[in-house]
Amino acid sequence: MLKGKSAVVTGSTSGIGLGIARAFAAQGADVMLNGFGDPDEIEAIQNGLVSEFGVRAEYNGADMTKRSEIKGLIDAATASFGKVDILVNNAGIQYVAPVEEFPEDKWEQIISINLSAAFYGIHYVLPQMKQRNWGRIINIASAHGLVASTQKVGYVSAKHGLVGMTKVVALETAETGVTCNAICPGWVLTPLVQKQIETLAERRGVSIEEAGRELLSEKQPSKTFVTTAQLGGLAVFLCSEDAANMRGTALSVDGGWVAQ
Ligand code: NAD
Repeated sequence: MLKGKSAVVTGSTSGIGLGIARAFAAQGADVMLNGFGDPDEIEAIQNGLVSEFGVRAEYNGADMTKRSEIKGLIDAATASFGKVDILVNNAGIQYVAPVEEFPEDKWEQIISINLSAAFYGIHYVLPQMKQRNWGRIINIASAHGLVASTQKVGYVSAKHGLVGMTKVVALETAETGVTCNAICPGWVLTPLVQKQIETLAERRGVSIEEAGRELLSEKQPSKTFVTTAQLGGLAVFLCSEDAANMRGTALSVDGGWVAQ
């Protein structure tokens, strides 16, 4: 379905971004990977996409806190594939502390990676999408883009901002073949959440499994984790022609979290 299209997925060396990159490659899209990690592991991911799906897969290590590197990422993908049809703004980090204790540097870093990086990516890629009158921009927000939790002031602020950004971009492109939407996942068992489970287990003096169950039962009525494959499937759908008039939506995939 995505043969002939090319995608940039930020933060795709792990977790949700990797799940989405795999789903795109499975549909025939060429993929530019991005994110941090062990160079050998990243090369293995890249080679795996090429051999499993027969697509082109490149890697660019742009740091999402640096706007010049974000421009470099879009330029590199354009040079490799001739164009960028799909941009997924996925890279993100978490930090947990009450607002008065929240480290100022962590605030700056979260806003930079989880919010500003999406602005810069869209800012740099939109002209070429508009020129070809086709594009898909998908922002990975969160249930925390729609509702709040304590101790997550940076993350909740950034994700609410990202949902707002999605609406503005969707309105500004509404008469074009470019769409912009957000996906709002609930808990997905990735390294980002694993860290929170480990912290909870330590604080409560319980096992990792018990802490995982506690985390789910507090927020997610399904009591099961959302999978990266489910999010990849939704991202593929958003790239289809059936989704051509979905604009500015914030789609929940959260086991019922925000229905409460
Ligand atoms: P993850 O930690 O597995 O992956 C994060 C990715 O971002 C990695 O590839 C990492 O290398 C990359 N990254 C981090 N800082 C970067 C930087 N400065 N520059 C470039 N890349 C950077 O996390 P994940 O759970 O897969 O999260 C992906 C996105 O999904 C995030 O935006 C997160 O907020 C969102 N999300 C996650 C969950 C969840 O439950 N895991 C729920 C809702 C939303």
